Amino acid sequence: MAVVDDIVVAPDKRLATECAPIEEVTDEIRALADHMLEDMYATEGCGLAAPQVGELVQLVVVDVDYTKGKRHPYVLVNPRIVVADGEERETGEGCLSFPGISVRVSRPSHVVVEARNLDGDLMRYEAKDNLMAVCLQHEIDHLHGVTMLDHLRPLQRAKMMREYQAALANGARPGETGDE
Ligand SMILES: [Zn+2]
Repeated sequence: MAVVDDIVVAPDKRLATECAPIEEVTDEIRALADHMLEDMYATEGCGLAAPQVGELVQLVVVDVDYTKGKRHPYVLVNPRIVVADGEERETGEGCLSFPGISVRVSRPSHVVVEARNLDGDLMRYEAKDNLMAVCLQHEIDHLHGVTMLDHLRPLQRAKMMREYQAALANGARPGETGDE
């Protein structure tokens, strides 16, 4: 797995900032999406949000299925969760902005997300009981300054922050998730 060095790593104000909607898909936005996909594939992540590369705009890339060498990238412009329901499910999550740790996060198991694609078309994504459902929620959180640690109860959060500090001290780099 490659390590990329332009990922914003916590703690960083950009990871706690509300990102601006994208008014128009310009060449700049298309280039940003390409760049984010490159970083995501290089680190074998399943998603990446623009603030994680330092751009405070509402752009997310996702691909939960490229194990057999075939890529299925989704680029979501101004995504918003229009339905989040179903049973809460707890799964292990990692984040390129928190190298070296993985945390158990509980989220609704079913989501419907609306977003524009790079052609400006309004798209609707539905995911239930799978990595896509988790990934969409995790990445869209980033656009609103929310990270996976913000979903934890205070004690658990404090424990994971200590674990994270230790991982950083040990030289953890983006793309390394550690053990659950
Ligand atoms: Zn993340």
